[in-house]
Amino acid sequence: MTQILIIEDEQQIARVLQLELGFEGYETTIAHTGTAGLLAFHEGNFELILLDIMLPELNGLEVLKRIRKHNETIPVILLTAKGEIQDKVTGLDYGANDYMTKPFEFDELLARIRVALRFSSKTNAPEILTHTYEFAGLTLNEETREVSRHNNQIDLTPREFDLLTHFIKHPKLVQSREQLLNAVWGFDYYGDTNVVDVYVRYLRQKVEVNLNLPSLLHTVRGVGYVLKESAANET
Ligand code: CA
Repeated sequence: MTQILIIEDEQQIARVLQLELGFEGYETTIAHTGTAGLLAFHEGNFELILLDIMLPELNGLEVLKRIRKHNETIPVILLTAKGEIQDKVTGLDYGANDYMTKPFEFDELLARIRVALRFSSKTNAPEILTHTYEFAGLTLNEETREVSRHNNQIDLTPREFDLLTHFIKHPKLVQSREQLLNAVWGFDYYGDTNVVDVYVRYLRQKVEVNLNLPSLLHTVRGVGYVLKESAANET
């Protein structure tokens, strides 16, 4: 089921959108503030975002900017009020895919949602897949095999690249050594799982230590490893 995130502070509009989209077979999550929306975006696995511009705490444009830092491809449709023309323009500059001016016809919104989903990478348009993954300033392009962190280019061996690719495709999810071994070395690998530790060490050297940047690859004792941002009190 396609998951849509609705970030809209007007409860009635949000509720109507949820009901109508539900009828159309979409699963929706509602957030009533900018910060709640951003949080929901990071926790969920959405395929499209409906984003109101005038929001409490963090306005829609700020939310959009932050979303685009982490995800360049998820379609975002802005919900704007009449008269917010400048915001619309800024929104499109910030990477919104489309906008709807309130009050709008639901059928038109549905049509635009379908178009946006059709052009997004997660649905049925593999030819426009970007093959680029981004996490916390770390960027990896599967096609060109280029890796960088905060614009510092990182040279990896093919195996290191494959391992990092697996991590960046599963951010924040703890990976056991066995999972990593299967994903990167293949099921027919007969060595022991220490090879994973060795390669994680190589990656840390190149992605963290050499660049003097905070850790991204964290050890989860007794389990394996996870790609995530360091908490504020870590280095
Ligand atoms: Ca609003």
